[in-house]
Formats: sequence, structure tokens, C-alpha cells
Amino acid sequence: MKALVFTAPGTVELLDVPEPDPAPGETVVQVRVAGICGSELHGARRPGFRKPPLIMGHEFAGTGAGGEAVVVNPILSCGRCAECRRGLRHVCREREIIGVHRAGGFAERVAVPTSALRPVPPGLPWEAAALIEPAANAVHAWNRAGGALGAGGAQGARVAVIGCGAIGLLCAATALSGGAGRVEVTDLSPARLAAAQRLGADAAGPDLSGEYDVVMDAVGSAATRAASVAHQRPGGVAVWLGLAEEEAGFDANALVRSEKRVLGSFAYRDGEFAHATALIRDWDLAWAESYPLAAAAEIFTGLMNGGLHPVKALLRP
Ligand SMILES: [Zn+2]
Ligand SMILES: [Zn+2]
Repeated sequence: MKALVFTAPGTVELLDVPEPDPAPGETVVQVRVAGICGSELHGARRPGFRKPPLIMGHEFAGTGAGGEAVVVNPILSCGRCAECRRGLRHVCREREIIGVHRAGGFAERVAVPTSALRPVPPGLPWEAAALIEPAANAVHAWNRAGGALGAGGAQGARVAVIGCGAIGLLCAATALSGGAGRVEVTDLSPARLAAAQRLGADAAGPDLSGEYDVVMDAVGSAATRAASVAHQRPGGVAVWLGLAEEEAGFDANALVRSEKRVLGSFAYRDGEFAHATALIRDWDLAWAESYPLAAAAEIFTGLMNGGLHPVKALLRP
């Protein structure tokens, strides 16, 4: 079968690879759609958790053994530790991710633990099914903000989202669906700001001004992390999803003097994955573009080197 293989730092290739060999308890998924994630572009440039050779792809949907439509929850956890028993299996210390620690969805077929399969609602387009996993990240971030703000959560909140890549757009959509009073977004790209406006957000331009109850950072650079604190009202909350840099560089004394808060947000709980599955049907997803698997190496390399600019690229094996 064909697969896009991460073969060396900065290199992906479309190769003929052996068919997946499912272990007991695994199912072979016929991949119908797989999204390319920003984390994979970073990971291919500077290998960290992802070690070549690897078939990446953690955002994917397809058909299961009986031909039924399934979406994969790629978070695998031990199921035994204190975090798993608390329902926090997404921060299990033994966590592994399909497409990061083992072969993922950038292939015609992939074997995954049957326990990772979730049903796709009837009639949901494949393109939307591929965006359930990134949308679940946004649902989790929104719930993190709501939990921090206390009674009433983030209902009616003034929300800012920094960065209108797929995660930022999905954060804006989740906040709007979740009862935010107003959602303002920033990005350097007018096309990305326009996509956010089609979802119902207000475009603030390249930078934030003013103060917000919730600031969601979907970039993760030292500058955006600093902005998420600077533009947070006293006692507000910043939720960080982006992982562009390891540095923060924010005004830590503002956390003391104005009781500002910063929360990290990674992945999602199982219920949030299900919630994302229900929400995604209502959103304008025209900013995601589909490409055949045959073009995968060219598309991935173009995104990695910054020469190609769909907000989100989906592969259709
Ligand atoms: Zn992702
Ligand atoms: Zn665990």
C-alpha cells in the first residue's frame, strides 16, 4: 500500500510499504481522510517524539472492519495510573499517540487498537470527520477556561484567540458555540482572519488591543504568550495550546499583582472528543482543503517550508 513516510529530518516520501499487521485487539482502518497538523510540520523539521521512519497522522477517519464510518481518538494511555483513574488519561505519563509513537493515518490503511475507534455520525462529511480531533483540542481548552472562571464558566465572556490556524479557528468556533459574549481573533494573514469571520468571530487584525476575560493562545511563541498575559483582565485566564517555542517571556509579576492566570491545554478528555463530534457539523469548514495521497509529499513539504498556505490540508487516500 502507499503511505507518506517521514524518512529523515525535513524529509517525507510517498512509499510502497507493507500492509498493516493488526495485533490482537486491533482493527485495520481504511483511511478516507487525514489532516496534516502543525505539530507534524514542526516534528518533521526537528525530530523529537516523532522518530523516523514513521507514518505520521493523528487526525483521521475512515472505515472499520465492517465498513462502518469511524474516527480515531489517537490518545493511548495505560488505564491504570492515578491520572487515568481520575479520568485524565490524556496526561497519563505513559501516554502514546497514534501517528507519533506508532504508525498513523497518512496511509491507505492503518492498524489501531479497536478501543480507539469512535463512531462518525451518519451523514457527516469525511472532511468534517478529520477535524473532530483538532476540534476536541479546542473543546478542552474552552472547558479549561470555563473551569477557571468559576460559576457560569465562560458564558458571556470576552474572548480573544491568538492565531487563526486550524486550532485557533476551532477555538473561536467552540467559544461561539459555547456561549462566549464576543470572540476576537488575531492573525497576520487576512485570509485566515476572513475564515474566522465566516465562523462568527470579529477580526482584531494582527495584534490584540484591550482586555479580555479569556485569551486563547493557539501559536505558542514567547511573544504570543506574553500577549496572552498582557491582554488578560485582572483575574482572567489565558489558555495556552500552541507549541511553537519553549520560551514564555511573559510578565510573571502580573500573575501576582493582578491575579492573572495561565493554563496549559493538551489534547482532550473522552467526553470532549464526543462533544467535538457533535459540534463540528454546524461550522463553516471551507478553510480545509483536500488533496490526494499521491500529492502528499509535495503538500507536506510545501507546508513545512512555508511556501504553501491552505489553513488546513487534508489528505484523501
Ligand atoms: Zn493535531
Ligand atoms: Zn495512565
